[in-house]
Amino acid sequence: MHLIGKVLKEPKKDIIIASQNILIRAGYFVLDDKLISLPLGNMLIKNIMEKFLQLFNSTQEVDMGISVKKILNSKFFSEFIKAEFNSHKSIPNSFYYNNNETNDSYNTSKGLISSRYEKMLHIINISDTFQQIELSDYLLSNYNIKTMKALHNGSEQIYTPFVLGDDKYLLCNDCDYNSRKDLAIFDKNIRREHDIREIERVHTPACKTIEEVANYLNVPTSRTAKAVFYTVDNKLVFAVIRGDLDINEMLLMQVLGVDKLETATEEQIIKVGAVPGYASPVNISEKCIIIIDDSIAQSSNLVAGANELEYHLKNVNFDRDFNCDYIANIAVAREGDRCVCGGELKEITGVPLVDIDIIENDKHRYINTMGKPRQLIVSVNSFHLHKIIAMIAENNHDEHGLIIPESIAPFDGILISLLKTDKDRIDEINQIIDKSGKKFIVDDRKLKPGIKFIEADIRGYPIRLIISDKLLSNNEIEIKYRGAERSVIKISELKRFLK
Ligand SMILES: [Zn+2]
Repeated sequence: MHLIGKVLKEPKKDIIIASQNILIRAGYFVLDDKLISLPLGNMLIKNIMEKFLQLFNSTQEVDMGISVKKILNSKFFSEFIKAEFNSHKSIPNSFYYNNNETNDSYNTSKGLISSRYEKMLHIINISDTFQQIELSDYLLSNYNIKTMKALHNGSEQIYTPFVLGDDKYLLCNDCDYNSRKDLAIFDKNIRREHDIREIERVHTPACKTIEEVANYLNVPTSRTAKAVFYTVDNKLVFAVIRGDLDINEMLLMQVLGVDKLETATEEQIIKVGAVPGYASPVNISEKCIIIIDDSIAQSSNLVAGANELEYHLKNVNFDRDFNCDYIANIAVAREGDRCVCGGELKEITGVPLVDIDIIENDKHRYINTMGKPRQLIVSVNSFHLHKIIAMIAENNHDEHGLIIPESIAPFDGILISLLKTDKDRIDEINQIIDKSGKKFIVDDRKLKPGIKFIEADIRGYPIRLIISDKLLSNNEIEIKYRGAERSVIKISELKRFLK
């Protein structure tokens, strides 16, 4: 039978990471704008999934359709949990499902690390106590993947540091703070002056940027307020942040409870009475959603726009001069910023592998054996399956190809037949393999032996057996474990070697 997914002779020029090139050349996946999972790739995904499901003792599939992240805090999810797990008899329990997620900023030159589509496995555990499963240790000991943990407000992400990863993290030099960059918090060095001064309108000709205004008025940008505009469902969002900081759209979306933001047009900005380039929330005429960074709320006597061409205001103070709908941390943390402990934040890149969310929600309750309502703990583990495979390839390969860990390899080995006469005698070997409980694929194609060996190596089969007329005449077979030396053994010994 022809195994769908040919080995490619040449490296793919557009893939810049060696391990990812091997994975594609080995015939596990086809990758361009789309991602095709070939039989070997699918077997690998299935085996990895089974390992994680065993680890969590999760046997029931409940397909929630979309990404669990999008429904985690929804009424729909909450109602389902409440209805199913309302009694001590129904817990502990675990269910799982797969879905595909789309990555709009994909980069296929990084192979499976940054593919457009990604298969996710979500395992949802429901219990009255939190079960700690050390996934980091599991990934390291079974797949040779070194991991780190980024923490943020009850959620956790296990990732592996990798220079060409798409994701950024900030780590503190002095304490164990480790966060996704887009969720990181930092010390904004907020300074508040004692005297609150009178507001003052000043002429600022040709000063459209924060830097120009700060220069002109001879103040640091950290003493200014800048406005950034978005729209959500056609409503204008007026975000204000200190001039030396930048808006973190991820945090902004979290505060607003939305998953999409659009940049506002000049027309929409003017409509609320703000003047682009000279905007501030002082004296605006129309209602809009005003959200200010805590750096603005806690600072005093700032320079802000006057909503008038070529004019700014000095000594603007929150509460006295303007109000808002939300005060929150909506600032981007950057490398070199201060950690709240005083240490310095350092940026690294990595590849996310597992997202862990713990929900301890008052709404989720069950009745215990004493008839009392008690809180349920819902923990959700979302596995980035394609990225896990990418990093298995990265950490388990050599110049000849993949070295797939035996526990998840699509086949335990390959039996290469070079027989020219007595081809049926391969059945004897197959029977021995079957009896050993191993699953082998047979390569009896009429190709040069060298090509067969190269293909077996690149695909990373854990064991390679070779049978030829000469070997068979001596009742011998060649055995080679991937990455080790080959040896010739008696066929009668094969069963023992396969155990
Ligand atoms: Zn720190």
